[in-house]
Amino acid sequence: MTRPALRFAPSPNGRLHLGHAYSALLNARIAAGLGGRLLLRIEDIDPGRSRPDFIAGIHADLAWLGLRFEPEVRHQSKHVPDYARARDGLAGRGLLYPCFCSRGQVAAAVAAGAARGEPAPRDPDGAPLYPGTCRAVPPDLARARIARGEPQSWRLDMAAALAEAAGPLPIRRFAPDGRDAGTIAADPARWGDAVIARRDVPTSYHLSVVWDDAAQGVSDVVRGQDLEAATDLHVLLQRLLGLPSPAYHHHALIRDETGQKLAKSKGSESLADLRARGVSPEAVRARLGFA
Ligand code: GLU
Repeated sequence: MTRPALRFAPSPNGRLHLGHAYSALLNARIAAGLGGRLLLRIEDIDPGRSRPDFIAGIHADLAWLGLRFEPEVRHQSKHVPDYARARDGLAGRGLLYPCFCSRGQVAAAVAAGAARGEPAPRDPDGAPLYPGTCRAVPPDLARARIARGEPQSWRLDMAAALAEAAGPLPIRRFAPDGRDAGTIAADPARWGDAVIARRDVPTSYHLSVVWDDAAQGVSDVVRGQDLEAATDLHVLLQRLLGLPSPAYHHHALIRDETGQKLAKSKGSESLADLRARGVSPEAVRARLGFA
């Protein structure tokens, strides 16, 4: 039997905060309980936001917390050609279509639909579902626009994808003690024609994460509840790409004193800030319930 493998997969676009520390510590605890491997993956596909100093900070913070990972760290930026091939494979099967709409054009199309009294459904993150404008662009015209150098993202044709997936998409779940927590049925349709490959990089969080979990042999995914709904899309992509589906545990998010979710963008205190203030790693572990 192959050993279980878990991963902590931060995006180096800011400093790690207590929420990341919780996720990393929980991964380590569950990996130890299962006798599994603990892997680190740097999710640096975002050319505009990933920074080497944030990667260095991730390593420093995790070492400070006393966490040890397997020596081989995977960097997503080194695997972009693999993601591009997966994208092209899906597109070649008619499961993705190129979308030429800018964010502003999508917003305008949604607003125009709403003005006509059409329903404006939203995805689980609260964004309006893509109204499908570019699904109607004839393939010849789409090819000509791409040949002319028009930037394009690639969207999942959700109806085609669900037809090809043929049948229920179970999500296997497990509890923090490692026990089986049963399955639930994924409902990827609630994401609509999601972007699977962006304009600026030939991939997306969703495509890279399923590709890499399979490439790294990840058997058990431990991550925050903010990513729970995305799992619906992940099991669909795994089915379409013929990749194995790991089991999932989505943990509650660490909140600040006001009950707000911690976020780099909201300036939440980073682990580096805590360290600079003289807070010990033991105190951080104790505060998070890992004494
Ligand atoms: N890179 C993602 C983040 O930092 C986490 C990805 C995952 O665990 O699936 O939010």
